[in-house]
Amino acid sequence: MNIAFLDLKKQYALMKDEIDDAVGRVVGSGVYIGGDEVAGFEKELESHAFTGRSGGSGPGTSAGYAVSVSSGTDALLASLMALGVKEGDEVITSPFTFIATAEVISFLGARPVFVDIERRSFNIDPGLIEEKITERTRCIIPVHLFGLMADMEKILKIAKRRELGIVEDAAQAIGSSFGGRKACTFGDAGCLSFFPSKNLGCFGDGGAVLTGNEELAGKIRVIKEHGSDKRYHHSVVGFNGRLDALQAAVLRVKLRSLDQWAERRREHARYYSERLKDLVSVPAQPDRYYHVFNQYSILSDRRDELCAHLKAKGVPTMIYYPVPLHLQKVFLPLGYREGNFPVAEEVSEKVLSLPVYPELPEAEREFVADSVVSFFKK
Ligand SMILES: *Cc1c(COP(=O)(O)O)cnc(C)c1O
Repeated sequence: MNIAFLDLKKQYALMKDEIDDAVGRVVGSGVYIGGDEVAGFEKELESHAFTGRSGGSGPGTSAGYAVSVSSGTDALLASLMALGVKEGDEVITSPFTFIATAEVISFLGARPVFVDIERRSFNIDPGLIEEKITERTRCIIPVHLFGLMADMEKILKIAKRRELGIVEDAAQAIGSSFGGRKACTFGDAGCLSFFPSKNLGCFGDGGAVLTGNEELAGKIRVIKEHGSDKRYHHSVVGFNGRLDALQAAVLRVKLRSLDQWAERRREHARYYSERLKDLVSVPAQPDRYYHVFNQYSILSDRRDELCAHLKAKGVPTMIYYPVPLHLQKVFLPLGYREGNFPVAEEVSEKVLSLPVYPELPEAEREFVADSVVSFFKK
């Protein structure tokens, strides 16, 4: 069987007419930067039951404002800039994430301070955060890895008590929730990525910041427009961080299906977990959490053998992530070494992600599960 890890062409085929209409509308409009599509997308993201204001259930749950940007990385960068993170500051985050989370901290001359993760959730361990806080700590970036939120109740308490900012990295977790409260509604800002493989993906790079803070939203708007609040008048150092009109038009179409797609991902995950739970460590799905499964990631002591077996069967897998950030060459100057974050290190040797996307055919997911089972029954 010829199985794809992710087949984006399937989704396009299912919505070709609507997407082609949207693309044609932009191309014919002559407005390629900003304009109605971008403004319309931001409004829809703000009010969408799955991501925005109306999805909340009480005070403090509002994401309020959506500011579109050119990528998830730029969403993180602009958020940290708007919160005033600068040279010499420290920002606490997970060592088990995509490089972008920590890269933006270093890019601003601040220092990434890593905190080990919980083995079951793959997310930052809130119990280990406080001991890492110093006078220089400005902010925490919890990452909602693979689509499961970090324990935001505990993290929020720590941040309040110690007067720290929170920027949620929700690049993999649009639409996820904890205790009925959506990702991006806990922190000062929440960052989304629309990279094609994310749960809401465009046809290139894109991202957004959600925030309930009007002033912060305003600052981020200025930062991603070359620090300009009036054309050719520049008040702060910013950069070119805008979302294209074409991408916004595509995202408006796709946003309408986001909640169904998450349900579909969850069905695939339920199926895998039912079949594999006695053979490998399947992803945690704790009570009160709504996991949106951007990735379905298992842990196995025999990961590399299993991976080779699956490859021989024609089942593609991915390792997210083979090297935790504290051991990456780029971060050697931070002075971390092997043994500093034992859980992240162990997980990077045991983790394996199986194909999961809304349009994954049931016959393929069955074959994937059969192939894992056959490895252990050998
Ligand atoms: C994808 C991703 C990013 C960066 O998003 P881009 O849109 O690719 O810049 C940041 N953090 C995490 C956890 C991601 O998965």
